Amino acid sequence: MKKLAVIVPCYNEELVIAESYRRTREALHKFPVLTEIIYINDGSRDRTRLMLDEIAASDPQVKVIHFSRNFGHQPAVTAGINNCDADLAVILDADMQDPPELIPSILELQEKEQANVVYCVRKSREGEGLFKKVTAFYRMLNYMSDVNFPLDTGDFRLIDRKVMDQFDRFQERGKYIRGLISWVGFKQVPFYYEREARIAGETKYPFSKMWKFATTAMLYFSKKPLRLATSLGFIAVLVGIVLAVWFTLGKIYGFSNAETGWTSIMTSVIFFGGVQLLTVGVLGQYIGILFDEIKARPEYIIDEKKNF
Ligand code: UDP
Ligand code: MG
Repeated sequence: MKKLAVIVPCYNEELVIAESYRRTREALHKFPVLTEIIYINDGSRDRTRLMLDEIAASDPQVKVIHFSRNFGHQPAVTAGINNCDADLAVILDADMQDPPELIPSILELQEKEQANVVYCVRKSREGEGLFKKVTAFYRMLNYMSDVNFPLDTGDFRLIDRKVMDQFDRFQERGKYIRGLISWVGFKQVPFYYEREARIAGETKYPFSKMWKFATTAMLYFSKKPLRLATSLGFIAVLVGIVLAVWFTLGKIYGFSNAETGWTSIMTSVIFFGGVQLLTVGVLGQYIGILFDEIKARPEYIIDEKKNF
């Protein structure tokens, strides 16, 4: 019989854990597969740890991984996949925005299509604030990157053993999981659903984390920012040449009065200063990534594992 794992990262989710566990268990209850739930406690500072330990003590099919501190959502999901030995895995949020009740239909689709990945696509973004809608940056990401990502997806998806085995081979530290799974290839099919609102608590993705997430996604999947920087430099040089010719000819033939050019000088100094800072910044971002990758630190540190 096939074994299904549900991977759930949790960070300060004391308000939702109990309900989340109840609903996930219930959704999987009547399904003819062996199931387990892998909770990753990403260094929560509330009662999440205690609650997960209690659940693990009463339910042997619940596995728990405690991190030594907060490492972030993507490392938590990575740990879940790395520590999963099931044939199929579903990645789920603890806050029930992605309803576990959909898992049977997702499995059905996987079976029918013989797919390696079923990625869940949000039909509407009702459950999300304006902020999230604005930061839905996939379109830009698709433009900037060298692979095509499906639009309006999160990490909510089903992956099979083949994909997990390939995923375990990824060495990079700054993992953008939905991108990497898309990059792996094999047969990937969409599943459409309505994303719900968080049942309790608040988002663990404030603007700072969202920004880091977005830049990781872009920088790890694309060299286009570098190419863009080169293009900007090229345009600047062209503009410079045209201006130089214009002013020189103007001096000779007297059609430009260069002395009164304060505005044009200020504008170009500021503009080209900006272009330079921007391009140095882009270079710096890539150097920063190289720095992180060369150090090759572990992506997460596990404090304790339960029921493994
Ligand atoms: N999460 C995590 N570590 C973090 C931030 C978030 O494990 O540093 C978990 C969180 O508990 C939740 C999931 O990642 O299960 C998604 O987070 P959240 O619901 O806050 O993000 P949103 O749905 O608002 O994008
Ligand atoms: Mg959420």
